[in-house]
Amino acid sequence: MEAVGEHSDLATASSSPSPTRIHSAVAAMGDPGHGLDADTVRRVWAAIDASTSVNTKTAYRSDWGRFQRWADDSGYPALPAPAMVVAAYLTDAAAQVRADGRPQFCSATLSRWASSINQIHTAAGYPAPGRSEVVRRALAGVRRTRKTPPKRRSPLLLADVRLLLAELGTQFSVWPAAIAAHRDAALLLMGFTGAHRRSELVNLTVGDVTVHVADGLHVRVRSSKTDQEGAGIVRALPYGRDPATCPPCAFLRWRRILLAYDAGGRRAAMAAAHHRGSAAEHCCRDTDLGAVGADRAAVGRDAGGGGAASAVGERALFPTVHKTGQPSSKAMTGDAVAAMIQRRAANAGFTPAQVDLLGGHSLRSGFVTEAFRAGADAHSIMRQTGHRDPKMLEVYAREHAPLVGNAVTKLDL
Ligand SMILES: [Zn+2]
Repeated sequence: MEAVGEHSDLATASSSPSPTRIHSAVAAMGDPGHGLDADTVRRVWAAIDASTSVNTKTAYRSDWGRFQRWADDSGYPALPAPAMVVAAYLTDAAAQVRADGRPQFCSATLSRWASSINQIHTAAGYPAPGRSEVVRRALAGVRRTRKTPPKRRSPLLLADVRLLLAELGTQFSVWPAAIAAHRDAALLLMGFTGAHRRSELVNLTVGDVTVHVADGLHVRVRSSKTDQEGAGIVRALPYGRDPATCPPCAFLRWRRILLAYDAGGRRAAMAAAHHRGSAAEHCCRDTDLGAVGADRAAVGRDAGGGGAASAVGERALFPTVHKTGQPSSKAMTGDAVAAMIQRRAANAGFTPAQVDLLGGHSLRSGFVTEAFRAGADAHSIMRQTGHRDPKMLEVYAREHAPLVGNAVTKLDL
């Protein structure tokens, strides 16, 4: 079969397989006219709906749509797609370059496409073509030939986070800038303290965060690299001594304003922002905000009570905010989180070179670095980050906290 002949080409990606050869290989493998019927598509989306977050679903849809268009245009079957077709799709995309000669799509994007194609197949009851040897090796080949080292992001240390929060605090009394400022303060502080990935932050809903009387906040992370089943893991974000860096305070201020906007619009949000909107004092122990019971009641009341409470719980915790101050129903994207961190850092006086090194990962790497510098051991850091292997943390320790536990400090210099 011709597919075998193509195999070595795809495996190393050293040369792009010619379209005609792939074409004939695919033609020999299946019926190109096989398509999707509406019922199958509905079943697939129903299954995916129940198992994934809104952001992940949006990504699946768009990834799948891209593959489907490509398959349609090329006359190949999309569902089920032979492994060879998926491999051809991915190597075709891998060969596309931008005007400056850099690849149009990074390896991580190609891997995600394969994974989205797998998801649709699995949900429809077909074997996942992306797990086949030919696709796995095609992706490995692309990664190996590109050899682009991942761009390391600078960690944001606690002192940096404080600087950003101080700058945000100056906007808490400015309308409508206060809305986005409160959102960003909560995101920065929760992201840093919880060692969250940007993808985890944008997937959080209002209902994922609960106030715990003793612990502070309990944040349920439902989809995460280390939790593929989606059962969820809980990260606790403790009360802070300083109201400016108290995660429950930042969360409660923001949630209050967000839900007020949803329930009563601009005026209600303004009132909520003025009422205990200052970062100079704690609001986390206020009985009307802090207690779990009152918390639930507030959610129910804001939503008009009863069954609508769960709809409020499903609201994106970190939505995009229009320049008029109105929060949308859509969560920020991971890229928007990275851009926000860069923008806020620039406002807080970081140099353009420093800003350029910041990204969505800076909060998580900042937590690890700060914890190492404060004398925490790898095991206790892993409790918060969810890393399974201490080796993953060594990278941060070596790069950002090279003097911690280092014998060089014992020298009498
Ligand atoms: Zn507080």
